[in-house]
Amino acid sequence: MTANPTRVLVLNSGSSSVKYQLLDMADRSRLAVGLVERIGEETSRLAHTPLATGGAKREREEPIADHEAALQAVARELAADGLGLDSPELAAIGHRVVHGGKKFTEPTVITDEVVAEIERLIPVAPLHNPANITGIRTAQALRPDLPQVAVFDTAFHTTMPESAARYAIDVETADAHRIRRYGFHGTSHAYVSRETARLLGKDPSEVNVIVLHLGNGASASAVRGGRCVDTSMGLTPLEGLVMGTRSGDLDPAVIFHLARNAGMSVDEIDSLLNKKSGLIGLCGDNDMREIRRRIDAGDEKAALAFEIYVHRLKKYIGAYYAVLGKVDAVAFTAGVGENAAPVREAAVAGLEELGLAVDAGRNAVRADEPRLISPEHARVAVAVVPTDEELEIATQSYALVSA
Ligand code: ADP
Repeated sequence: MTANPTRVLVLNSGSSSVKYQLLDMADRSRLAVGLVERIGEETSRLAHTPLATGGAKREREEPIADHEAALQAVARELAADGLGLDSPELAAIGHRVVHGGKKFTEPTVITDEVVAEIERLIPVAPLHNPANITGIRTAQALRPDLPQVAVFDTAFHTTMPESAARYAIDVETADAHRIRRYGFHGTSHAYVSRETARLLGKDPSEVNVIVLHLGNGASASAVRGGRCVDTSMGLTPLEGLVMGTRSGDLDPAVIFHLARNAGMSVDEIDSLLNKKSGLIGLCGDNDMREIRRRIDAGDEKAALAFEIYVHRLKKYIGAYYAVLGKVDAVAFTAGVGENAAPVREAAVAGLEELGLAVDAGRNAVRADEPRLISPEHARVAVAVVPTDEELEIATQSYALVSA
């Protein structure tokens, strides 16, 4: 007799990659983490770290034809550590699903109808949802008896009021094509806003937080009493902040202009704005570490890219301050937010009148723990709160299947 199963496998399936983590929700520990990259290419790569056994990271390069082969390879690695997918200790598989539209406001146990609805959303998430469905189908084939849970990137943002969620375009056209602001990175915004409240010693319902998720993709959200009231990404992840390779906000007429005057196709403009814009378009690098190195070496292009990035960020802080009226905390998270002290310093510089400031000494500290970087007795807390989307997906999945 096994006690109630407590393990959750979290899968984040991209178009050519699968990231995974096996967690034990009994103590929220991580048993194994890994990544399969370049699926479908000759040089596919699998990296697996068996944290439970304290074993070293194992890496192998071998052709992995598709997602099914990838998941089988993951299953073999886990089995080698005694953590196989056939284990009765596995309670659920939690899938990150990028687009849940208006309908999915909560983590959801996956049925055929749920998959059909995720499929219906492909027109608004053409890159992400097909890969997510492949991951789900493959996992179902491996363990048909096990509950599979979809945790949607959009779910946390479904509480946005219509005033924030609607674009000011013809309502009938918008509704016919499901055009509205959905927002993404919701799992991270949910986790970080809650952890920020915890850091302040308060219940999430008692605090208003501006969350700045600054990774390669970047988004801001305004969270009032634990509920999202606005976020910077929209119909797709293209809207909002300047990102690693995405432009963020621009006049939509730029697109007509390029089509009419530069002879670019819609697909070419899509690629320009999603893959060749943002920091990489501005200065040729999208890694903030490299940009800072170049700035320190006197590179003007890198300095201007940094200024444009920070200017947009500051505008969103101001906008969400106004949306919330009263702000208890601003929380920085993800690769840039957690590591780039100069970005945090520059983003709140000059906002002392709003009660916002960064203490240079605290801002310079590097740590994995949530921490305050505002001065003692500041009116608004400024915090660095490491995100953990996998833990959040596992927590939500486990809560659903063990209820
Ligand atoms: P993703 O959006 O791919 O999940 P992450 O949240 O991991 O991205 O963020 C990746 C980005 O974080 C990198 O592109 C880099 O710009 C930035 N980053 C990571 N480490 C550092 C660091 N030590 N200093 C500055 N920036 C960093």
